[in-house]
Amino acid sequence: MLEYHHSMSQVLAVDVGGTKTAVGIVDGTGTILEKRIAQSPRGDPVAVVALVRSMAESLCVPTRTVVALGLALPGVLDHPGEVLLRSPSSGWYEVPFTRLFSEALGLPAIADNDVNACALAEATFGGGAGLDSFFWMTVSTGVGGALYQGGRVLAGANGMAGEIGHLVVKADGALCGCGNHGCLEAEAAGPAWSRKLIAQQADSSGAYVAASGHTPLDARAIAESARKGDPRCLHVVDQVSEALACGMAAVLTLFDPQAIFLGGGVAGASDLLLPRIEAKLPGLVLAYDKRNTKITATSLGSDAALLGAAALALRYIERKDFHT
Ligand SMILES: [Zn+2]
Repeated sequence: MLEYHHSMSQVLAVDVGGTKTAVGIVDGTGTILEKRIAQSPRGDPVAVVALVRSMAESLCVPTRTVVALGLALPGVLDHPGEVLLRSPSSGWYEVPFTRLFSEALGLPAIADNDVNACALAEATFGGGAGLDSFFWMTVSTGVGGALYQGGRVLAGANGMAGEIGHLVVKADGALCGCGNHGCLEAEAAGPAWSRKLIAQQADSSGAYVAASGHTPLDARAIAESARKGDPRCLHVVDQVSEALACGMAAVLTLFDPQAIFLGGGVAGASDLLLPRIEAKLPGLVLAYDKRNTKITATSLGSDAALLGAAALALRYIERKDFHT
């Protein structure tokens, strides 16, 4: 019988995002040996499976060494991680992705929500290695979170533990996609940056609109202008930092983790955000100065979800070893 060792194994990792799909071969140390990225097809889930299959076939690393497939999916999964119950951003409901991918690629497959996968990547390959408890927060076009404790991501009674994007941080705040007002997602995700800037420029000449058209500056461009000292962009950064500080205060109060890791595209502005968040937390959290929780940007960058998919597959292999 073949024996697989965690550090020697190679797995196929798939990150199906709202806009992009990444496929890679990852080894047991978290090294991405090869990677392909393509636009995610809209609509038919079967088209996504076909796309991933063709991307996997184009990889040059010999797939005979690959023993399992890990999947990071955008949305809420059922408890065994077999069916994507709902993904409003992708328009997918009740899709049995795990079986579809397993059949298409001829490998055992294991799936989780993409934010949970990021937390697992942090625990396996990042700054979360060796920690007993930490919180992962993704801030990109949406906001998501995952509670990691005792070697696993906490699911909660309804699979929604850690869903910090819909924690209300500002009464009467911006309308969220979920229908409530003032959710962290509506106050701090990428689109919120643009909205907050536009709200300030009602009396301006449109200087904050990109020269090529009428597209408002995105979060990355706003952060760049803030670094150069633009007062309105700095005001947006202050507002977003305050919202994130309120969200993190809730995490610190309820969970008291050893660390909070910030990921997602907006984490690219962590040089602006983290000092402001740290400055606000003492006023929001009991005995903040006595705590040793580290709040940092992830070191995994934009590959966090892909590495999380790999970590899922590697854990699957370990469990398999355990039972044989
Ligand atoms: Zn919401």
